[in-house]
Amino acid sequence: MGEAGRPAQAHVVVVGGGFAGVACAKRLAGEPRARVTLLDRTGRHQFQPLLYQVATAELTPRDIQFDLAAMFARHDNIEARTAEVAAFDPGAPAVTLADGTTLAADAVVLAAGATPNFFRTPGAERYAFPLYSLSDAERIRARLLELFREAAAKPELIDEGALTFVVVGSGPTGVEIAGAVAELAHDVMPHVHPQLSAARATVIVVDHGHAVLGAFSAEAHDYAARQLRRRGVELRLGTAVKEVAHDRVVLGDGTSVPTRLTIWGGGEQAVPLAGQSGLPQGRGGRVDVDADLSVPGFPAVYAVGDVANIPDRDGALLPQLGSVAQQAGDWAAGNIIADLEGGNRQPFHYQDKGIMAMIGRKAAVAEIGARRHELDGRLAFTAWLGVHAQLLANTGAELRAFLAWAEEFYLRPAHRSAKLLHPSAVDVPRIDWSSP
Ligand SMILES: Cc1cc2nc3c(=O)[nH]c(=O)nc-3n(C[C@H](O)[C@H](O)[C@H](O)COP(=O)(O)OP(=O)(O)OC[C@H]3O[C@@H](n4cnc5c(N)ncnc54)[C@H](O)[C@@H]3O)c2cc1C
Repeated sequence: MGEAGRPAQAHVVVVGGGFAGVACAKRLAGEPRARVTLLDRTGRHQFQPLLYQVATAELTPRDIQFDLAAMFARHDNIEARTAEVAAFDPGAPAVTLADGTTLAADAVVLAAGATPNFFRTPGAERYAFPLYSLSDAERIRARLLELFREAAAKPELIDEGALTFVVVGSGPTGVEIAGAVAELAHDVMPHVHPQLSAARATVIVVDHGHAVLGAFSAEAHDYAARQLRRRGVELRLGTAVKEVAHDRVVLGDGTSVPTRLTIWGGGEQAVPLAGQSGLPQGRGGRVDVDADLSVPGFPAVYAVGDVANIPDRDGALLPQLGSVAQQAGDWAAGNIIADLEGGNRQPFHYQDKGIMAMIGRKAAVAEIGARRHELDGRLAFTAWLGVHAQLLANTGAELRAFLAWAEEFYLRPAHRSAKLLHPSAVDVPRIDWSSP
């Protein structure tokens, strides 16, 4: 028994307030045997699947971030803190915050997510614009709006790449952002800057692989490629990016494409904290975990979400998806509760919701459920909306902005242009138009 006759509580530290961390804390909320410290460097849950809507000014940053302290305010056993974890000692286990404070724990759930992987492409880290966080999305939006403004004022800059947007990667992130930028350029921007004709902007997707949406079926590859081309997107498949510079991208075939905006959707890796902690790292620098989601050799440490390599029942690694992260965070909490009750931990079982990607207005592909039932077009777009509304609702987030966006996006796309006129002030390096 603890003080004043209350049962002693185990201290669970959750690092990261993304899908995985929030799901874990939610499951432990109200659990009398545990108190939880939920740490996130931003203090907010950021809903990554809607990042590209922020990047293309369809949603405001406020619409897709949710204050973690407010989210857990009514749960006495959860303390959500805005804090950066600078070091993690899995043996103790304990975390050290950026301000030097150390928090000892009975269990640590590492749910710190991923960062872009530039695969050592020269210039990419410096000049490419990744899309993995809200600040990334705001930088892309600010750069896009600035480029359209400059091109409208000085159309001669178009030949220098002002309206050529290169997207690296033809996975879901690359496809979704390419479709959204193409619709922004062709359907919305001509209303904002009538002097720019729709045909003058170019969106190019580059990937060294030979298929768009490689993880999907062959039908989905063809459908996505067709839909992107229909939106004026140029596909350069089977082509690597050799270098990214401030004013161009150099491709493996020797071509140099003038551009002032290269968006990086080329891959991700676990956050550096994973490697710095000395935990076993596998593919993508992610932490390898056992079937119960704990880290081999460290029974009081769990790793979940994009920071971890999570095996399915058959041992195959699960993809980096919001639904995997959400379910794994919840499951890790279940195993912590099992420990507290003296019960047995259970091996993680993923309920496969399938995979999906939106290509633009009314176009999406969805492979639903473990059997990968194939959908495309409006039906897939509707499925996409349903699954994302569910993901949002599971985090306890407010659905109003998402539903309003969905309605406007589907029925009245030109209304979006109103928002574009009020870009947020984001610090993006000024465009250098001087010749290299
Ligand atoms: C553009 C984009 C679109 C996507 N679309 C979809 C989609 O449509 N459907 C889908 O299922 N999945 C999608 N995903 C994937 C999905 O968003 C991720 O799989 C999911 O966010 C992983 O959740 P997580 O909790 O592991 O990590 P994250 O959501 O990345 O959360 C990690 C948290 O940890 C915090 N953190 C990191 N380091 C520290 C530290 N040292 N100290 C304190 N806090 C720290 C971060 O601030 C962050 O809040 C998309 C991803 C991207 C980038």
